[in-house]
Amino acid sequence: MPKVVDAARVTTRDNTVWRTCTSCSELKPLLDDIERCAECTAPKPSTAAEAGWQVAKHYAELVGRISAWTDEKIPGFSDTERLAQIRRLLEDGKAVK
Ligand SMILES: [Zn+2]
Repeated sequence: MPKVVDAARVTTRDNTVWRTCTSCSELKPLLDDIERCAECTAPKPSTAAEAGWQVAKHYAELVGRISAWTDEKIPGFSDTERLAQIRRLLEDGKAVK
């Protein structure tokens, strides 16, 4: 019988599986032998400018994801579902990661 984890393997590359990162506790596609996500293992910005760009890129990505829902680029969802997705993105996007 197929398991949820089997479905996750279908949608990810190679041997990645959606699991909880041990550092940030978010669900991320992780390789079998990796416990922390890419954001948690990435080097932290060493200058204020690097930190500023990281914040700017975070919000640019957030705007792009919201735009995809408002522009109806993602088919098969009702207005209510689209708004729920946008609300979730706004909630998740408050904290810079
Ligand atoms: Zn993480």
